[in-house]
Amino acid sequence: MKKSTPFSHIKFSCCTLLCCLVAFPTSNANEVKNKLQASIDRDAEESIEIAQTIWDLAELGYQEFESSKLLQQKAKEAGFTVETAVADIPTAFVASYGSGQPIIGILGEFDALPGLSQKVSQHREAHIKGGAGHACGHNLFAAGSWAAAKAIKEQIANGTLSGTIRFYGTPAEEGGAGKVYMARSGVFDDVDVMLHWHPAGFNDASPRSTNANKGAKFRFHGIPAHAALSPEKGRSALDAVEAMNFMANLMREHVPESSRIHYVITQGGEAPNVVPEFAEVFYYIRHPDFKTVQELFDRLVLTAQAAAMGTETKMDFEVINGSYNILPNTTLSQITYNNLVEVGGVTYNADEQKFAEELYTTLYKPDAKLGSQEQIRPFVPSAGRASSDVGDVSWQVPTAGLTTACLIPGSYLHTWQAVAAGGSSIAHKGMLNASKVLAMTAAELMQNPDLIAAAREEWEADRGEDFKYVPLLGDRDPPLDYRK
Ligand SMILES: [Zn+2]
Ligand SMILES: [Zn+2]
Repeated sequence: MKKSTPFSHIKFSCCTLLCCLVAFPTSNANEVKNKLQASIDRDAEESIEIAQTIWDLAELGYQEFESSKLLQQKAKEAGFTVETAVADIPTAFVASYGSGQPIIGILGEFDALPGLSQKVSQHREAHIKGGAGHACGHNLFAAGSWAAAKAIKEQIANGTLSGTIRFYGTPAEEGGAGKVYMARSGVFDDVDVMLHWHPAGFNDASPRSTNANKGAKFRFHGIPAHAALSPEKGRSALDAVEAMNFMANLMREHVPESSRIHYVITQGGEAPNVVPEFAEVFYYIRHPDFKTVQELFDRLVLTAQAAAMGTETKMDFEVINGSYNILPNTTLSQITYNNLVEVGGVTYNADEQKFAEELYTTLYKPDAKLGSQEQIRPFVPSAGRASSDVGDVSWQVPTAGLTTACLIPGSYLHTWQAVAAGGSSIAHKGMLNASKVLAMTAAELMQNPDLIAAAREEWEADRGEDFKYVPLLGDRDPPLDYRK
């Protein structure tokens, strides 16, 4: 890391240290926030168009060529310097504007999910049969983050703010761990604070961690034989998978609380009357602490080795993905939360209300009521169970995020209802709210270097003195073909 002391970000405007520890905003804070909101509203049509274009494209992880190109083109048109194909990923990019410190980054994702194509409809209706869909709202994530970066750029250009704004185009969040390869390549190293957001069915900016995650495919190689005529001549690769799974399931009793171990058998042989020559099982291990994930993974490898030994088969494995748990930052979350409260929730017009009511009837046991999209959830730190490649970023840069109500309350990501809402004006309202909160938070940080110093101090204490970033996925190359 370039900077290590919490006060290294304070701009010294006089020669005595006492005076220097008080940071003065360069302009009236509220006035700047109003300007940012006005420019996001002014550009709303263009931001929505970007979101809709990416929604239509629905490109899968590492295949987001058109989505990435569109965002890069918008950044260039707005005067950003764009570095493309970073971290050996063709669709990853970094767009920068301004100079000097602080450097504030905003993340933007744009990959879709396979098989979830859906029209903006109250019924399950594929847009393209068997096609992909933006079921995680990453079309909004990209366009909303870009709108925030562009608004900040304007205020740097007119001299109201000083520093650097970076918009990070981060591909393949859905299982491709794009940000991990970017983190490993060092593109986040000089950033002071990173901001991000995610579409959801509610508005929230509380500090929230995630589970760290490591996944691998274990492959067993046996000896094929006729299962009836000469089974004694064969050694079953499927037996090895079953033996491994049995041991892994026994292991569950002896793992720390909050661990998650899940697997699918991806290949188990072709026909019952042939002793399987090849079998493969795909495992994920999750826990709130990345160090525990690595320990559990090492134990899982032992079960695979033992299974191979006992069944006289051969085993190899490939680490497919790995991401750290998100390290929350209360200082940054508090600022983000205050701005979210100022911006407020999402109010539907009559058409949106009707659409939402009809879509709501299709939800299975919704845990939130329509109308809650207008409220902001209270500021309560929590631990999430899913995983995100934002985790690795948060251990390299103090990071905070928020969610806004782009989906129908009570609905979940990775469902057709999320795709339907994500292409509607409801989602656009939530997206523009997120843009405003991101821009206001970035501006507040740029105007108050002492807040950045406090956030970094908290972050350094939480990481611990001995922390050294080692990616859970090791030195493997980005799996650019994983969705092909
Ligand atoms: Zn997702
Ligand atoms: Zn997502």
